[in-house]
Amino acid sequence: MTLAILSALAEEQQGIFEQLEQARRVIHAGREFGLGVWHGQSVVLALSRIGKVAAATTATALIEKFGVERIVFTGVAGGVGDGVQVGDVVVARDFVQHDMDAAPLFPTFEIPLYGQSRFACDPALTAMLLEATGAGVSSASGLFSLNQRIPQVHHGLVASGDRFVSAAVEVQRLQARLRAAGHEALAVEMEGAAVAQVCHDYGIPFAAMRTISDRADDSAHVDFPEFVRTVASRYAQAILAEFMQRL
Ligand code: SAH
Repeated sequence: MTLAILSALAEEQQGIFEQLEQARRVIHAGREFGLGVWHGQSVVLALSRIGKVAAATTATALIEKFGVERIVFTGVAGGVGDGVQVGDVVVARDFVQHDMDAAPLFPTFEIPLYGQSRFACDPALTAMLLEATGAGVSSASGLFSLNQRIPQVHHGLVASGDRFVSAAVEVQRLQARLRAAGHEALAVEMEGAAVAQVCHDYGIPFAAMRTISDRADDSAHVDFPEFVRTVASRYAQAILAEFMQRL
């Protein structure tokens, strides 16, 4: 049962390719895929690239070309839920596209012709990822100190859209629109809902985690690269190592 490890950022997969047995790289659809065996499991490493379309293309290639049978995603996101702070981790329960709006033909946020707004993650794979996240965060967070605060693991709805949300007024507007339709999002990012929809179409189990890199407010762009390098990449690698042992 081949597992795809799909990450938003190259830093999150740094060093993993070197750990693969029978490792080989394949270029397809303008993307690089890393194939091999990790912790006794057949895996394919890939980067989603940024935005919904790019992520959907990568996910489709993973399924159609490389025959992966489940996908786990690691990335960073803006925290928008109450108490979701920088350095925390959100494990997705389900996804909504905050920029989908075909009203008045379809309800706002509903994906036309699907009759639904949200796409759920696979409960069993997500339960494993939640466990791995708890273990990975406690082992990795000892490596550095972030605001003297113990990182929290949250579980719930993640909103995706083709926007880097980086203004307090924008977050408030986005949250208000989502809430009016009954969606309470913990985090905002740019790929997850697209991968969830592709996995729904193909019947492929999907689980996703996002380290909170910013609060999607006016200072969202500050320290983003530094955060990715020092915090998010270490979390991703610690969590993935724990996850592989639970598969
Ligand atoms: N400059 C970055 C690109 C950042 S785009 C680079 O080095 O490539 C932001 C990425 O992080 C996207 O993949 C998105 O999923 C996630 N993300 C983090 N914070 C976000 C926010 N506030 N709004 C939207 N996406 C966010």
